[in-house]
Amino acid sequence: MRRLDLRSTDEVVLPRAQLDVEHALEVVGPLCDDVRERGEAAVLEYGERFDGVRPASLRVDPARITAALDGLDPAVREGLTESITRLRATCEAELESTVVTQVADGATVERRIVPMSRVGLYVPGGLAPLVSTVVMNAVPAQVAGVGSIALASPPQADHDGLPHPTILAACALLGIDEVYAAGGAQALAMLAYGTTSTGGSVAPVDLITGPGNIYVAAAKRYLQGTVAIDSEAGPTEIAIIADDTADAAFVAADLVSQAEHDPMAAAVLITDSEALAEAVEAELERQVPAAKHAERITTALDGQQSAIALVRDVDQAVDVANAYAAEHLEIQTADAGSVADRIVNAGAIFVGPHTPVSLGDYAAGSNHVLPTAGCACHSSGLSVRAFCKNMHLVTYTDQALRDVGPKVVTLAEAEDLPSHGAAVSVRLDR
Ligand code: NAD
Repeated sequence: MRRLDLRSTDEVVLPRAQLDVEHALEVVGPLCDDVRERGEAAVLEYGERFDGVRPASLRVDPARITAALDGLDPAVREGLTESITRLRATCEAELESTVVTQVADGATVERRIVPMSRVGLYVPGGLAPLVSTVVMNAVPAQVAGVGSIALASPPQADHDGLPHPTILAACALLGIDEVYAAGGAQALAMLAYGTTSTGGSVAPVDLITGPGNIYVAAAKRYLQGTVAIDSEAGPTEIAIIADDTADAAFVAADLVSQAEHDPMAAAVLITDSEALAEAVEAELERQVPAAKHAERITTALDGQQSAIALVRDVDQAVDVANAYAAEHLEIQTADAGSVADRIVNAGAIFVGPHTPVSLGDYAAGSNHVLPTAGCACHSSGLSVRAFCKNMHLVTYTDQALRDVGPKVVTLAEAEDLPSHGAAVSVRLDR
Protein backbone atom coordinates (compact mmCIF):
# COMPACT_ATOMS: atom_id res chain seq x y z
CA MET A 1 0.00 0.00 0.00
CA ARG A 2 1.31 3.41 -0.82
CA ARG A 3 1.71 6.10 1.77
CA LEU A 4 0.25 9.59 1.56
CA ASP A 5 1.82 12.11 3.91
CA LEU A 6 -0.80 14.74 4.74
CA ARG A 7 0.93 15.99 7.90
CA SER A 8 2.22 19.26 6.49
CA THR A 9 -0.82 20.14 4.39
CA ASP A 10 -4.45 20.92 5.01
CA GLU A 11 -5.26 18.43 2.25
CA VAL A 12 -8.25 16.27 3.22
CA VAL A 13 -9.18 14.61 -0.08
CA LEU A 14 -8.20 10.96 -0.52
CA PRO A 15 -8.10 9.52 -4.07
CA ARG A 16 -10.69 7.06 -5.30
CA ALA A 17 -10.68 4.35 -8.00
CA GLN A 18 -10.04 5.36 -11.60
CA LEU A 19 -13.06 3.53 -13.00
CA ASP A 20 -15.89 5.53 -11.50
CA VAL A 21 -19.64 5.35 -11.80
CA GLU A 22 -19.70 8.03 -14.52
CA HIS A 23 -17.42 5.93 -16.76
CA ALA A 24 -19.36 2.73 -16.12
CA LEU A 25 -22.53 4.60 -17.17
CA GLU A 26 -21.22 4.69 -20.75
CA VAL A 27 -21.53 0.89 -20.84
CA VAL A 28 -24.58 0.58 -18.67
CA GLY A 29 -26.89 3.17 -20.24
CA PRO A 30 -27.17 1.49 -23.69
CA LEU A 31 -27.41 -1.91 -21.98
CA CYS A 32 -30.42 -0.79 -19.90
CA ASP A 33 -32.07 0.74 -22.98
CA ASP A 34 -31.61 -2.55 -24.82
CA VAL A 35 -33.31 -4.47 -22.00
CA ARG A 36 -36.21 -2.01 -22.06
CA GLU A 37 -36.64 -2.58 -25.81
CA ARG A 38 -35.99 -6.30 -26.10
CA GLY A 39 -36.89 -7.58 -22.63
CA GLU A 40 -35.92 -11.04 -21.44
CA ALA A 41 -34.07 -11.99 -24.67
CA ALA A 42 -31.61 -9.16 -23.98
CA VAL A 43 -31.23 -10.15 -20.30
CA LEU A 44 -30.38 -13.71 -21.34
CA GLU A 45 -27.85 -12.52 -23.93
CA TYR A 46 -26.04 -10.24 -21.48
CA GLY A 47 -25.99 -13.05 -18.92
CA GLU A 48 -24.30 -15.27 -21.48
CA ARG A 49 -21.77 -12.55 -22.30
CA PHE A 50 -20.86 -11.46 -18.75
CA ASP A 51 -21.59 -14.53 -16.63
CA GLY A 52 -20.68 -17.16 -19.22
CA VAL A 53 -23.93 -19.08 -18.98
CA ARG A 54 -27.45 -18.90 -20.40
CA PRO A 55 -29.99 -20.16 -17.86
CA ALA A 56 -32.79 -22.39 -19.16
CA SER A 57 -35.20 -19.88 -17.70
CA LEU A 58 -34.75 -16.49 -16.02
CA ARG A 59 -37.28 -17.30 -13.29
CA VAL A 60 -35.91 -19.93 -10.95
CA ASP A 61 -38.25 -22.86 -10.45
CA PRO A 62 -39.52 -22.59 -6.82
CA ALA A 63 -38.83 -26.33 -6.41
CA ARG A 64 -35.08 -25.60 -6.94
CA ILE A 65 -35.27 -22.94 -4.21
CA THR A 66 -36.79 -25.38 -1.72
CA ALA A 67 -34.31 -28.08 -2.71
CA ALA A 68 -31.40 -25.70 -2.05
CA LEU A 69 -32.54 -25.27 1.56
CA ASP A 70 -32.74 -29.03 1.99
CA GLY A 71 -29.11 -29.25 0.87
CA LEU A 72 -27.83 -26.37 3.03
CA ASP A 73 -25.04 -27.07 5.52
CA PRO A 74 -26.71 -26.94 8.98
CA ALA A 75 -23.91 -24.71 10.34
CA VAL A 76 -24.51 -22.17 7.55
CA ARG A 77 -28.24 -22.36 8.27
CA GLU A 78 -27.54 -21.62 11.93
CA GLY A 79 -25.35 -18.65 10.99
CA LEU A 80 -27.99 -17.27 8.64
CA THR A 81 -30.69 -17.71 11.27
CA GLU A 82 -28.63 -15.74 13.80
CA SER A 83 -28.01 -13.01 11.23
CA ILE A 84 -31.74 -12.83 10.43
CA THR A 85 -32.73 -12.71 14.11
CA ARG A 86 -30.34 -9.87 14.93
CA LEU A 87 -31.20 -7.76 11.89
CA ARG A 88 -34.92 -8.33 12.39
CA ALA A 89 -34.63 -7.04 15.96
CA THR A 90 -32.99 -3.83 14.71
CA CYS A 91 -35.54 -3.39 11.90
CA GLU A 92 -38.51 -3.89 14.21
CA ALA A 93 -37.13 -1.36 16.68
CA GLU A 94 -36.48 1.14 13.88
CA LEU A 95 -39.85 0.80 12.16
CA GLU A 96 -41.44 4.21 12.43
CA SER A 97 -44.99 4.57 13.60
CA THR A 98 -47.88 6.82 12.72
CA VAL A 99 -47.61 10.36 14.09
CA VAL A 100 -50.76 12.44 14.51
CA THR A 101 -50.27 16.20 15.02
CA GLN A 102 -53.14 18.34 16.23
CA VAL A 103 -52.19 21.53 14.37
CA ALA A 104 -55.14 23.54 15.73
CA ASP A 105 -58.66 22.82 16.99
CA GLY A 106 -60.27 20.44 14.48
CA ALA A 107 -57.16 20.32 12.31
CA THR A 108 -54.99 17.22 12.19
CA VAL A 109 -52.08 16.04 10.08
CA GLU A 110 -51.33 12.37 10.36
CA ARG A 111 -48.10 10.92 8.99
CA ARG A 112 -48.91 7.43 7.90
CA ILE A 113 -46.16 4.92 7.03
CA VAL A 114 -46.97 2.81 3.98
CA PRO A 115 -44.76 -0.02 2.71
CA MET A 116 -43.69 -0.11 -0.94
CA SER A 117 -45.97 -2.41 -2.94
CA ARG A 118 -43.35 -4.26 -4.95
CA VAL A 119 -39.56 -4.22 -4.64
CA GLY A 120 -36.58 -5.76 -6.42
CA LEU A 121 -33.63 -6.99 -4.36
CA TYR A 122 -30.19 -7.43 -5.94
CA VAL A 123 -27.76 -9.98 -4.56
CA PRO A 124 -24.26 -9.97 -6.09
CA GLY A 125 -22.78 -13.19 -7.33
CA GLY A 126 -19.86 -12.35 -9.58
CA LEU A 127 -16.79 -12.87 -7.43
CA ALA A 128 -18.46 -14.27 -4.29
CA PRO A 129 -21.96 -15.61 -3.61
CA LEU A 130 -23.08 -12.94 -1.15
CA VAL A 131 -25.64 -14.98 0.74
CA SER A 132 -25.54 -12.48 3.61
CA THR A 133 -26.88 -9.88 1.18
CA VAL A 134 -30.11 -11.87 0.80
CA VAL A 135 -30.65 -11.30 4.53
CA MET A 136 -29.62 -7.63 4.44
CA ASN A 137 -32.08 -6.86 1.63
CA ALA A 138 -34.98 -9.09 2.53
CA VAL A 139 -35.33 -8.66 6.29
CA PRO A 140 -35.98 -4.89 6.26
CA ALA A 141 -38.35 -5.32 3.29
CA GLN A 142 -40.33 -7.95 5.15
CA VAL A 143 -40.41 -6.03 8.44
CA ALA A 144 -41.64 -2.96 6.53
CA GLY A 145 -44.51 -5.06 5.19
CA VAL A 146 -43.67 -5.05 1.46
CA GLY A 147 -46.25 -7.22 -0.29
CA SER A 148 -44.33 -8.41 -3.34
CA ILE A 149 -40.59 -9.16 -3.42
CA ALA A 150 -38.53 -10.18 -6.46
CA LEU A 151 -34.85 -11.06 -6.09
CA ALA A 152 -32.16 -11.27 -8.78
CA SER A 153 -28.67 -12.74 -8.62
CA PRO A 154 -26.26 -13.68 -11.43
CA PRO A 155 -26.53 -17.12 -13.05
CA GLN A 156 -23.61 -19.38 -12.16
CA ALA A 157 -21.93 -21.49 -14.83
CA ASP A 158 -21.09 -24.13 -12.19
CA HIS A 159 -24.72 -24.45 -11.09
CA ASP A 160 -26.79 -25.01 -14.26
CA GLY A 161 -27.17 -21.27 -14.78
CA LEU A 162 -28.97 -20.88 -11.46
CA PRO A 163 -27.91 -18.37 -8.78
CA HIS A 164 -25.57 -19.91 -6.22
CA PRO A 165 -27.36 -22.64 -4.18
CA THR A 166 -26.56 -20.94 -0.85
CA ILE A 167 -28.30 -17.81 -2.14
CA LEU A 168 -31.32 -19.90 -3.14
CA ALA A 169 -31.30 -21.58 0.27
CA ALA A 170 -31.34 -18.21 2.02
CA CYS A 171 -34.30 -17.20 -0.17
CA ALA A 172 -36.13 -20.32 0.94
CA LEU A 173 -35.30 -19.62 4.59
CA LEU A 174 -36.86 -16.17 4.20
CA GLY A 175 -39.85 -17.34 2.17
CA ILE A 176 -38.84 -15.58 -1.06
CA ASP A 177 -39.97 -17.56 -4.10
CA GLU A 178 -39.74 -15.03 -6.95
CA VAL A 179 -36.07 -15.33 -7.88
CA TYR A 180 -34.37 -14.53 -11.20
CA ALA A 181 -31.08 -15.82 -12.55
CA ALA A 182 -29.92 -12.43 -13.78
CA GLY A 183 -27.01 -10.25 -12.76
CA GLY A 184 -25.55 -6.80 -13.17
CA ALA A 185 -27.17 -3.91 -15.01
CA GLN A 186 -29.37 -6.22 -17.10
CA ALA A 187 -31.00 -7.59 -13.93
CA LEU A 188 -31.68 -4.13 -12.58
CA ALA A 189 -33.10 -2.92 -15.92
CA MET A 190 -35.36 -5.98 -16.05
CA LEU A 191 -36.70 -5.23 -12.57
CA ALA A 192 -37.09 -1.50 -13.25
CA TYR A 193 -38.85 -1.70 -16.62
CA GLY A 194 -40.48 -5.09 -16.20
CA THR A 195 -40.79 -7.32 -19.24
CA THR A 196 -44.54 -7.56 -19.69
CA SER A 197 -44.55 -4.94 -22.48
CA THR A 198 -42.01 -7.04 -24.43
CA GLY A 199 -43.86 -10.34 -24.06
CA GLY A 200 -42.23 -11.48 -20.80
CA SER A 201 -43.66 -12.03 -17.34
CA VAL A 202 -41.61 -9.87 -14.95
CA ALA A 203 -43.74 -7.14 -13.38
CA PRO A 204 -41.87 -3.85 -12.78
CA VAL A 205 -40.91 -2.94 -9.23
CA ASP A 206 -41.19 0.39 -7.39
CA LEU A 207 -37.80 0.23 -5.64
CA ILE A 208 -34.51 -1.59 -6.22
CA THR A 209 -32.11 -2.18 -3.34
CA GLY A 210 -28.85 -4.00 -2.86
CA PRO A 211 -25.14 -3.73 -3.50
CA GLY A 212 -23.04 -4.73 -6.47
CA ASN A 213 -19.98 -3.89 -8.50
CA ILE A 214 -19.38 -0.64 -10.40
CA TYR A 215 -21.83 -1.65 -13.17
CA VAL A 216 -24.58 -2.29 -10.64
CA ALA A 217 -23.93 1.08 -9.00
CA ALA A 218 -24.02 2.76 -12.43
CA ALA A 219 -27.26 1.00 -13.36
CA LYS A 220 -28.86 2.28 -10.17
CA ARG A 221 -27.86 5.83 -11.11
CA TYR A 222 -29.22 5.33 -14.65
CA LEU A 223 -32.53 3.80 -13.57
CA GLN A 224 -33.26 6.20 -10.72
CA GLY A 225 -36.46 8.01 -11.57
CA THR A 226 -37.88 5.00 -13.37
CA VAL A 227 -37.64 3.32 -9.96
CA ALA A 228 -36.56 4.44 -6.53
CA ILE A 229 -33.18 3.17 -5.35
CA ASP A 230 -31.77 2.82 -1.86
CA SER A 231 -28.28 4.21 -2.51
CA GLU A 232 -25.34 3.55 -4.82
CA ALA A 233 -23.74 0.65 -2.97
CA GLY A 234 -20.80 -0.17 -5.25
CA PRO A 235 -17.31 -1.64 -4.73
CA THR A 236 -16.64 -1.74 -1.04
CA GLU A 237 -14.53 0.68 0.99
CA ILE A 238 -13.03 0.59 4.43
CA ALA A 239 -11.36 3.51 6.16
CA ILE A 240 -9.79 3.07 9.57
CA ILE A 241 -8.85 5.89 11.93
CA ALA A 242 -6.23 4.43 14.24
CA ASP A 243 -3.69 5.82 16.68
CA ASP A 244 -0.77 4.25 18.53
CA THR A 245 -3.15 2.38 20.86
CA ALA A 246 -4.45 0.26 17.94
CA ASP A 247 -3.45 -3.36 17.40
CA ALA A 248 -1.65 -3.54 14.03
CA ALA A 249 -2.76 -7.14 13.42
CA PHE A 250 -6.42 -6.14 13.84
CA VAL A 251 -6.03 -3.10 11.58
CA ALA A 252 -4.29 -5.11 8.84
CA ALA A 253 -6.84 -7.95 9.03
CA ASP A 254 -9.69 -5.47 8.60
CA LEU A 255 -8.05 -3.79 5.59
CA VAL A 256 -7.48 -7.21 4.01
CA SER A 257 -11.02 -8.38 4.73
CA GLN A 258 -12.61 -5.64 2.64
CA ALA A 259 -9.95 -5.85 -0.11
CA GLU A 260 -11.05 -9.47 -0.49
CA HIS A 261 -14.38 -8.32 -2.02
CA ASP A 262 -13.19 -6.84 -5.28
CA PRO A 263 -9.96 -5.76 -7.02
CA MET A 264 -11.60 -2.32 -7.03
CA ALA A 265 -12.23 -2.31 -3.27
CA ALA A 266 -10.64 0.55 -1.34
CA ALA A 267 -8.78 0.12 1.95
CA VAL A 268 -7.52 3.24 3.70
CA LEU A 269 -5.72 3.66 7.00
CA ILE A 270 -5.70 7.16 8.47
CA THR A 271 -3.22 7.43 11.33
CA ASP A 272 -1.14 9.94 13.23
CA SER A 273 1.30 7.20 14.28
CA GLU A 274 4.23 6.39 12.00
CA ALA A 275 5.02 3.40 14.24
CA LEU A 276 1.52 1.99 13.69
CA ALA A 277 1.81 2.58 9.91
CA GLU A 278 5.02 0.55 9.86
CA ALA A 279 3.57 -2.22 12.02
CA VAL A 280 0.49 -2.45 9.76
CA GLU A 281 2.70 -2.64 6.66
CA ALA A 282 4.63 -5.51 8.27
CA GLU A 283 1.35 -7.27 9.15
CA LEU A 284 0.10 -6.87 5.58
CA GLU A 285 3.26 -8.49 4.27
CA ARG A 286 2.54 -11.43 6.55
CA GLN A 287 -1.26 -11.66 6.12
CA VAL A 288 -1.80 -10.99 2.40
CA PRO A 289 0.21 -13.90 0.92
CA ALA A 290 -1.53 -16.28 3.33
CA ALA A 291 -5.00 -15.18 2.23
CA LYS A 292 -7.07 -17.38 -0.12
CA HIS A 293 -7.80 -14.47 -2.47
CA ALA A 294 -4.29 -12.97 -2.26
CA GLU A 295 -4.28 -11.83 -5.89
CA ARG A 296 -7.54 -9.89 -5.65
CA ILE A 297 -6.47 -8.43 -2.30
CA THR A 298 -3.08 -7.34 -3.64
CA THR A 299 -4.70 -5.61 -6.62
CA ALA A 300 -7.09 -3.75 -4.31
CA LEU A 301 -4.41 -2.74 -1.80
CA ASP A 302 -1.99 -1.64 -4.53
CA GLY A 303 -4.64 0.34 -6.40
CA GLN A 304 -4.71 4.11 -6.31
CA GLN A 305 -7.89 3.91 -4.22
CA SER A 306 -6.02 2.38 -1.26
CA ALA A 307 -3.45 4.10 0.96
CA ILE A 308 -2.00 4.67 4.37
CA ALA A 309 -2.55 8.37 5.06
CA LEU A 310 -0.35 9.93 7.71
CA VAL A 311 -1.98 12.84 9.51
CA ARG A 312 -0.85 15.26 12.24
CA ASP A 313 -3.38 14.26 14.85
CA VAL A 314 -6.83 12.78 15.43
CA ASP A 315 -8.48 16.12 14.58
CA GLN A 316 -7.03 15.98 11.05
CA ALA A 317 -7.96 12.30 10.84
CA VAL A 318 -11.58 13.22 11.55
CA ASP A 319 -11.51 15.92 8.84
CA VAL A 320 -10.03 13.48 6.31
CA ALA A 321 -12.59 10.79 7.20
CA ASN A 322 -15.51 13.23 6.92
CA ALA A 323 -14.30 14.42 3.52
CA TYR A 324 -13.83 10.83 2.31
CA ALA A 325 -17.26 9.64 3.54
CA ALA A 326 -16.31 5.96 3.62
CA GLU A 327 -18.81 3.19 3.27
CA HIS A 328 -17.31 1.57 6.40
CA LEU A 329 -15.37 3.59 8.95
CA GLU A 330 -13.60 1.91 11.84
CA ILE A 331 -12.35 3.89 14.82
CA GLN A 332 -9.48 2.20 16.62
CA THR A 333 -8.20 4.99 18.87
CA ALA A 334 -8.15 5.88 22.52
CA ASP A 335 -11.64 7.07 23.47
CA ALA A 336 -13.06 5.75 20.19
CA GLY A 337 -16.63 6.67 21.14
CA SER A 338 -15.92 10.38 21.30
CA VAL A 339 -14.00 10.28 18.00
CA ALA A 340 -17.04 8.54 16.46
CA ASP A 341 -19.27 11.35 17.76
CA ARG A 342 -17.41 13.77 15.48
CA ILE A 343 -18.05 11.77 12.30
CA VAL A 344 -20.82 13.14 10.11
CA ASN A 345 -20.15 11.27 6.84
CA ALA A 346 -19.91 7.46 6.81
CA GLY A 347 -22.15 4.59 5.73
CA ALA A 348 -21.64 2.87 9.08
CA ILE A 349 -19.16 3.38 11.93
CA PHE A 350 -17.53 0.49 13.76
CA VAL A 351 -16.34 1.64 17.15
CA GLY A 352 -13.46 0.15 19.11
CA PRO A 353 -11.14 -2.83 18.69
CA HIS A 354 -13.81 -5.50 19.08
CA THR A 355 -16.10 -4.30 16.29
CA PRO A 356 -14.59 -5.30 12.94
CA VAL A 357 -16.44 -4.54 9.72
CA SER A 358 -16.72 -8.29 9.08
CA LEU A 359 -19.02 -8.52 12.09
CA GLY A 360 -21.29 -5.98 10.40
CA ASP A 361 -21.03 -7.86 7.11
CA TYR A 362 -22.78 -10.83 8.67
CA ALA A 363 -24.31 -10.63 12.09
CA ALA A 364 -23.94 -7.38 14.01
CA GLY A 365 -27.64 -6.56 13.63
CA SER A 366 -26.72 -3.58 11.42
CA ASN A 367 -27.15 -3.54 7.63
CA HIS A 368 -24.21 -4.13 5.29
CA VAL A 369 -25.76 -2.48 2.22
CA LEU A 370 -24.11 0.93 2.46
CA PRO A 371 -23.39 3.93 0.21
CA THR A 372 -19.96 4.05 -1.46
CA ALA A 373 -17.88 6.47 -3.58
CA GLY A 374 -18.57 9.40 -1.27
CA CYS A 375 -22.36 8.96 -1.43
CA ALA A 376 -22.43 8.69 2.38
CA CYS A 377 -22.42 12.52 2.29
CA HIS A 378 -26.04 12.39 1.16
CA SER A 379 -27.29 8.80 1.37
CA SER A 380 -27.90 6.28 4.12
CA GLY A 381 -27.37 2.57 4.49
CA LEU A 382 -30.24 0.24 3.78
CA SER A 383 -32.84 0.06 6.52
CA VAL A 384 -36.52 -0.60 7.03
CA ARG A 385 -37.08 3.06 6.22
CA ALA A 386 -36.02 2.59 2.57
CA PHE A 387 -38.97 0.24 2.07
CA CYS A 388 -41.56 2.70 3.40
CA LYS A 389 -43.25 5.81 2.10
CA ASN A 390 -44.66 8.59 4.22
CA MET A 391 -48.16 9.84 3.47
CA HIS A 392 -49.83 12.79 5.15
CA LEU A 393 -53.52 12.49 5.90
CA VAL A 394 -54.92 16.00 6.37
CA THR A 395 -58.31 16.41 8.01
CA TYR A 396 -59.94 19.80 8.81
CA THR A 397 -63.40 20.49 10.17
CA ASP A 398 -65.58 23.30 8.79
CA GLN A 399 -64.60 25.57 11.72
CA ALA A 400 -60.88 24.72 11.41
CA LEU A 401 -60.97 25.76 7.73
CA ARG A 402 -62.79 28.99 8.66
CA ASP A 403 -60.08 29.77 11.23
CA VAL A 404 -57.18 29.61 8.78
CA GLY A 405 -59.01 30.11 5.44
CA PRO A 406 -58.54 33.92 5.06
CA LYS A 407 -54.77 33.47 5.45
CA VAL A 408 -54.77 30.83 2.72
CA VAL A 409 -56.69 33.19 0.42
CA THR A 410 -54.13 35.95 1.09
CA LEU A 411 -51.20 33.63 0.31
CA ALA A 412 -52.89 32.39 -2.88
CA GLU A 413 -53.34 36.02 -4.04
CA ALA A 414 -49.68 36.74 -3.25
CA GLU A 415 -48.77 33.91 -5.64
CA ASP A 416 -51.20 35.20 -8.28
CA LEU A 417 -53.16 31.97 -8.08
CA PRO A 418 -56.63 33.33 -7.26
CA SER A 419 -58.38 30.06 -8.14
CA HIS A 420 -56.52 28.45 -5.25
CA GLY A 421 -58.06 31.08 -2.96
CA ALA A 422 -61.46 30.59 -4.56
CA ALA A 423 -61.43 26.88 -3.64
CA VAL A 424 -61.28 27.99 -0.01
CA SER A 425 -63.63 31.00 -0.30
CA VAL A 426 -66.42 28.89 -1.83
CA ARG A 427 -66.46 26.93 1.42
CA LEU A 428 -66.17 29.99 3.70
CA ASP A 429 -69.17 31.56 1.89
CA ARG A 430 -71.45 28.62 2.64
P1 NAD B 1 -22.06 -8.43 -9.05
O1 NAD B 1 -23.21 -9.37 -8.99
O2 NAD B 1 -22.22 -7.08 -8.50
O3 NAD B 1 -21.61 -8.24 -10.55
C1 NAD B 1 -21.65 -9.27 -11.49
C2 NAD B 1 -22.27 -8.73 -12.74
O4 NAD B 1 -21.49 -7.66 -13.24
C3 NAD B 1 -22.40 -9.70 -13.85
O5 NAD B 1 -23.59 -10.42 -13.75
C4 NAD B 1 -22.37 -8.80 -15.07
O6 NAD B 1 -23.66 -8.58 -15.52
C5 NAD B 1 -21.78 -7.51 -14.62
N1 NAD B 1 -20.56 -7.21 -15.36
C6 NAD B 1 -19.34 -7.77 -15.20
N2 NAD B 1 -18.49 -7.25 -16.09
C7 NAD B 1 -19.17 -6.35 -16.84
C8 NAD B 1 -18.83 -5.47 -17.90
N3 NAD B 1 -17.58 -5.42 -18.39
N4 NAD B 1 -19.79 -4.69 -18.40
C9 NAD B 1 -21.04 -4.70 -17.91
N5 NAD B 1 -21.42 -5.52 -16.91
C10 NAD B 1 -20.49 -6.32 -16.36
O7 NAD B 1 -20.84 -9.21 -8.37
P2 NAD B 1 -19.32 -8.83 -8.13
O8 NAD B 1 -18.64 -8.44 -9.38
O9 NAD B 1 -18.77 -9.95 -7.33
O10 NAD B 1 -19.37 -7.56 -7.21
C11 NAD B 1 -19.91 -7.55 -5.94
C12 NAD B 1 -19.64 -6.17 -5.44
O11 NAD B 1 -20.53 -5.85 -4.40
C13 NAD B 1 -18.24 -5.97 -4.91
O12 NAD B 1 -17.71 -4.84 -5.56
C14 NAD B 1 -18.45 -5.67 -3.45
O13 NAD B 1 -17.50 -4.80 -2.93
C15 NAD B 1 -19.80 -5.03 -3.52
N6 NAD B 1 -20.51 -4.96 -2.26
C16 NAD B 1 -20.89 -3.74 -1.84
C17 NAD B 1 -21.60 -3.60 -0.68
C18 NAD B 1 -22.09 -2.25 -0.27
O14 NAD B 1 -22.99 -2.17 0.56
N7 NAD B 1 -21.55 -1.18 -0.81
C19 NAD B 1 -21.97 -4.73 0.06
C20 NAD B 1 -21.58 -5.98 -0.40
C21 NAD B 1 -20.85 -6.09 -1.58
